[in-house]
Amino acid sequence: MDNRKLKIGIYELTGCAGDALMILNCEKELLDIFQAVDIQSFLMAKSDNIDGELDVALVEGSVTTEKEIEELKNIRQRARIVVALGLCATVGGIQARFQNPDEWQEHFKKIYGQTEMELKGIVSQPIDAYIKVDFYLPGCPISKEQFLHFFTRIVKGAPPESYPQPVCVTCKYKENDCLLKKGLLCLGPLTGDGCGAVCPSHNLPCVGCWGPVKGGNWTSEFYLLKDKGFDVESIRKKMANYSGTKISEFFKQLDRRD
Ligand code: SF4
Ligand code: SF4
Repeated sequence: MDNRKLKIGIYELTGCAGDALMILNCEKELLDIFQAVDIQSFLMAKSDNIDGELDVALVEGSVTTEKEIEELKNIRQRARIVVALGLCATVGGIQARFQNPDEWQEHFKKIYGQTEMELKGIVSQPIDAYIKVDFYLPGCPISKEQFLHFFTRIVKGAPPESYPQPVCVTCKYKENDCLLKKGLLCLGPLTGDGCGAVCPSHNLPCVGCWGPVKGGNWTSEFYLLKDKGFDVESIRKKMANYSGTKISEFFKQLDRRD
């Protein structure tokens, strides 16, 4: 790698902007971050933004308008590496809950009525529905430590850490009493562990905010929770909250079976 500073762009599509805010929340490290790289674009932090060639684009938020598809494709064309930042960009976010277009329309109308919108709204999708994504940093929002690890590695030319294990693995290392066994609706078996099992370590069930772990057995957890007496609707709601589009196939299969 040459010695020039990496050109970085940080972009926000549809979401709560919590991930961008989390970067700004690195107060002690912020000056070092801005000195270590050339931040070309970061709407939340600076006004002199440039839309040029980039080494790394960090994209927060899901795609919910046609205009955002164009913006996203433009970012991809300009960036060597694209990173999905946070759960909305990674899986579509909580706003990806209604994937069926009719159901989506119905909820859209409930909120906006017949208002004429300048931007054409579409069903929420993660950014990899439209472009190739090189790396994923899940979390709702991402954590400060995770961002600093990622940033340090990317500046040194190393790929970011991945989170291949479910929350349960860390929970076991910490010798926590299993909340699922105690009869609570814990989503640890289905959730990627980047948080260090922080909730179950404080006796709170995992609600899945780091997003679905690769290879999670949705069917098994669904029927386990059903056997434990949870009603189907509350299981579905909990499972759908932070899993976005990544498990929509599971729900379709479930509907076909029911
Ligand atoms: S408490 Fe939750 S995260 Fe911990 S082992 Fe049990 S199911 Fe897994
Ligand atoms: S909800 Fe689950 S993934 Fe999110 S912080 Fe708590 S334990 Fe971690």
